[in-house]
Amino acid sequence: MPRPAPRFPSLLLLAAWACAPGGTSDDAPASTPSSLEASVTQTPFGVTPDGESVQLFTLTNTHGMEVRAMSYGGIIVSLEVPDRDGVLDDVVLGYDDLEGYLAETPYFGALIGRYGNRIADARFALDGTDYKLEANDGPNSLHGGLRGFDKHVWNAAPLETPEGVGVVFTRVSPDGEGGYPGDLSVRVVYTLTDEDALVVDYLATTDRPTPVNLTQHSYFNLAGDGSGDILGHRLTLHASRYTPVDETLIPTGELAPVAGTPFDFRTPHAIGERIEADDAQLGFGGGYDHNFVLDREGAVAGDLVLAARVEEPVSGRVMEVRTTEPGIQFYSGNFLDGTLTGKHRHVYGHHAGFCLETQHFPDSPNQPGFPSTLLRPGSEYRSRTVYSFGVMDGGA
Ligand code: BGC
Repeated sequence: MPRPAPRFPSLLLLAAWACAPGGTSDDAPASTPSSLEASVTQTPFGVTPDGESVQLFTLTNTHGMEVRAMSYGGIIVSLEVPDRDGVLDDVVLGYDDLEGYLAETPYFGALIGRYGNRIADARFALDGTDYKLEANDGPNSLHGGLRGFDKHVWNAAPLETPEGVGVVFTRVSPDGEGGYPGDLSVRVVYTLTDEDALVVDYLATTDRPTPVNLTQHSYFNLAGDGSGDILGHRLTLHASRYTPVDETLIPTGELAPVAGTPFDFRTPHAIGERIEADDAQLGFGGGYDHNFVLDREGAVAGDLVLAARVEEPVSGRVMEVRTTEPGIQFYSGNFLDGTLTGKHRHVYGHHAGFCLETQHFPDSPNQPGFPSTLLRPGSEYRSRTVYSFGVMDGGA
């Protein structure tokens, strides 16, 4: 039975992480009356080859929106969102069971660390010491190396806060993991609000200086998982500049204007509209696989800014992404090629999903001109990203 779709929320509740960690703003819109109760439940989801048991957490809000996430990799397994007729569908790619994720995954739904995105030549220097990382993407280190945060079982527990229902993941990444220095204590919370927002809060501390860049790697298809490609989705990115890359997808260091290029999403464009353009940067990525420099004028560190909006015209679903981060990686699923079969036997063809990974810029440890990703003992790494769901106005 379809449920009424909430209109796109005003989103004013999404106060700055720095100001309101774990709390709500006075501007929060009233929830739509509903007979459903918000809830969080926990069930077993399998056992890893190392014998570690994995738990699945199901978060449900009063509209029936549902997020399922597991303690292996903090992976978001499913995300059920209403369309313009109130019909729920799963809008993220992935697998039906733990075995699928263990066998092979291009980071479907995963928490990424210690360093989301690439570090050139899998090395960096810090305070006069050279650190060698694991090269797992040609010469570069990608998403934390051979066994990043996405391939570990986290401690996990259900959570209820004034903001919504959630799950908290914690883990200490030991000194030397992936080549990175210092014991890094990490806490990540997923909260589902009654305004149909999924809030992701990241917190980390260290006992030795180390780079940190955490992100969430869900592949979205707002028409529904397995419904085809995402080229018709209309994307807006609030970014006047992006970081061009070399052929191994490492930034050149330049912050280039998007104006006059296929990277200009400051007004809405279908993802597929210019993806085949004769452009060297699109050639390197096989499509979009680039970090965009978010326009944060007037914002201070810790403020959430609107980074992206994606509209899917057929279902009417809309997703907005707000973040405290300076950048966002827009990846158009270029390496999906029909060889992976996911949930419900869906074959993931070229561009079957897209990622919007909020982040500091790739290769920052080797790029003195980029905002620093260095975390020192005594400081806290804090980051918040909010994915808000709704439907397009006027059914258009
Ligand atoms: C990267 C892509 C990569 C994908 C899956 C994205 O974050 O930007 O280049 O293929 O992750 O590994």
